[in-house]
Amino acid sequence: MKYFVFLAAGLFSLLQISSAQPALNAKADAIISKMTLEEKVGQMTQVTLAVIAKGGWGNQDGTLDPAAVKKAIQDYKVGSVLNTTAHALPAEVWRTIITQLQDEEKKTRLNIPVIYGLDGIHGQTYTLNSTLFPQNIAMAATRNPALAAAAAKTTAKELRASGVRWNFAPVLDCGRQPLWSRFPETYGEDPYIGATMGSAAIKAYEEDGLKNPTAVASCMKHYLGYSAPRSGKDRTPAYLPEIEMREFYLPQFRAAVKAGASTIMINSGDINGTPVHASKYLLTDVLRKELGFEGLIVTDWEDIIRLYARHHVAATPRAAVVMAINAGIDMSMVPGDFSFFDLLKEAVQKGEVSINRVNDAVRRILVLKMKLGLMDNAYPEPASFGNFGATAYQQQALEAAREAMTLLKNDNNVLPLSKTAKVLVAGPSAQSISALNGCWSYTWQGKDEQWYPTDSKTILQAITDKVGAGNVITTTTKGFDSKQNMDASALTAAAANADVIVLCIGENAYAESPGNIMDLVLAEDQQALAKAAIATGKPVIFVLTEGRPRLITNIEPGAKGILMTYWTGKKSAEAIADVLFGDYNPSGRLPFSYPRSMGELVTYDRKPTEDVREIFNENVTMDGYKPLFPFGLGLSYTSFAYSDIKLSAATLKGNNKLSVEVTVTNTGKMAGGHSVELYTADLVASIVPSVRRLRAFQKIQLQPGESKQVIFMIDRNNLAFVNAQLKTVTEPGEFDVMIGDKKARFNYVQ
Ligand code: BGC
Repeated sequence: MKYFVFLAAGLFSLLQISSAQPALNAKADAIISKMTLEEKVGQMTQVTLAVIAKGGWGNQDGTLDPAAVKKAIQDYKVGSVLNTTAHALPAEVWRTIITQLQDEEKKTRLNIPVIYGLDGIHGQTYTLNSTLFPQNIAMAATRNPALAAAAAKTTAKELRASGVRWNFAPVLDCGRQPLWSRFPETYGEDPYIGATMGSAAIKAYEEDGLKNPTAVASCMKHYLGYSAPRSGKDRTPAYLPEIEMREFYLPQFRAAVKAGASTIMINSGDINGTPVHASKYLLTDVLRKELGFEGLIVTDWEDIIRLYARHHVAATPRAAVVMAINAGIDMSMVPGDFSFFDLLKEAVQKGEVSINRVNDAVRRILVLKMKLGLMDNAYPEPASFGNFGATAYQQQALEAAREAMTLLKNDNNVLPLSKTAKVLVAGPSAQSISALNGCWSYTWQGKDEQWYPTDSKTILQAITDKVGAGNVITTTTKGFDSKQNMDASALTAAAANADVIVLCIGENAYAESPGNIMDLVLAEDQQALAKAAIATGKPVIFVLTEGRPRLITNIEPGAKGILMTYWTGKKSAEAIADVLFGDYNPSGRLPFSYPRSMGELVTYDRKPTEDVREIFNENVTMDGYKPLFPFGLGLSYTSFAYSDIKLSAATLKGNNKLSVEVTVTNTGKMAGGHSVELYTADLVASIVPSVRRLRAFQKIQLQPGESKQVIFMIDRNNLAFVNAQLKTVTEPGEFDVMIGDKKARFNYVQ
């Protein structure tokens, strides 16, 4: 059986530029010609649910305040609402909210429906009993875009069944700074993985056609460079040379535009001193003109007023509005008041923002509403209601969680464990649901377990279900931070009766700024617990439930096995138990370099000089890239062997293609999945080349003894880099191609 992967840049269908666009623009213009200035700036205004909910920010049940709804829609003519108040709400409540909003809208002069947006980050976050999937960082570990697509499709269905047609996902920020609190929302450090998985998700959100009750508008975020704050702290400055920005941060957005994403959200931070919300260069020149993005540009939370209040680049609130709208923003996530409406109106009246710019923004908003079918029927669609909570979604969540599981260490094949062994399950995440799901899980921070579905399992439950209560001992209790979970002496005592210790450590849920940390090192009390477990002399398995790599260098040598689980959603516990006891053969691969220490946050695609360690030409070693676990690591319970690489030619010419072929054989005793990964290295280039770059991957399944031929078709685009003139080029010369432990060399000539 042959597997072909075509890697040409033109791979993605150009859903974006459809022939219907001019007609929709004309329709929108006809509406715009009838609109007052107030109606226009209202369309560009997005407020949060708390503004119209009874009790405001304290609202718990989604009940609207009719007077506040009237004020928002009649007086301020708002075009969009977002977010929940405190937590997830039942699907029926969402449908009631949407219905009430559209009812109010019906009373307006032009009857332009409201567009509601929610953050369905790893499943539909804010509807109770929705299906939660692995976070993006874990999806990246699966190396399986079909899983990312399936999760996105289900998320779209559950959003739409909740009456909501706009999803603020996927996050396309490149996760190269693990201190950053939103690292779990990224696809990790490699831009190719980000572009591939992100595009798969976007197509799944939108491909049915936005009018269809199984689709939602996606939102690429957060453009651009949001994930690269120098200090690692959320929403703080990034210093990104444009060459680096174009090489590592822009390609995901370029691919996502080609994949047809309808909307984009902007980075709240600043790059090289310019807040992105005020950057005409990034919003208009790069995004609109160069990337050809035609859709809607929305701000992130409060980010226009913050040009004045936080960034101090605008002297007045109105100057902030002028700056952002003239830079290219179409819609302001204000979101807590109506100040934007008044300020923009005033700015237009004073001639600081042209009416053409406003019309351009409103056109994009109206076109999106038309594409989503809102202009025909803005109410929740009965045809979508049945698409919520199907049992098949649970199976999808389980498959995705299983494929994400990444085995980092397995000394003497300590794993899989015997189902008759006496297992001590310890550590703070043993009985935590939130530490398996992470951010954006029924609440923003994901920490509040009362909102999770009642059938969500803990690791302790899943292990007990598998091997029986008689084989399980625990010293743990509910509540990640409970003192009892950190009790080392209780653990030592309990270990006397155990054959093996499964130590569940890592991070509890967090999102955005509250997840800012001072140190990547795993919390001290957890390290102490691990040391106590190791000191018992029983084999210790670390189960790492964490959204980013927390340093475990001090305790790692004492662990016999280490399973990286990330935050893998509803079926995390079941997937973990399946892997620990051999009912599932792990195939996840790390989508980031797991650092050894804070001083060595080096990515796999480093430059050659980063490999060198030396003292004045003495003691030269080449181990400068020495993470605790390298990018791409992922052990299996079986083994895979690679044949030599066969190239279709020794020279790749111009725009031709080169086929790169290997045969992979399962040489072990268990069936297993495996991601075959193709890297290239440019031997000499005008810009110091990366040591290697991931250019393609293909996940295959192999029975014991089975072989499969894997063929990659590469072309010059797969060898390209950004040069000193900021152009993406492929320079003639020699290249290495590496797959598994095999390598071949070829020439590229123009
Ligand atoms: C986040 C966005 C999110 C928005 C709306 C912001 O704080 O940065 O990712 O879409 O809130 O909830």
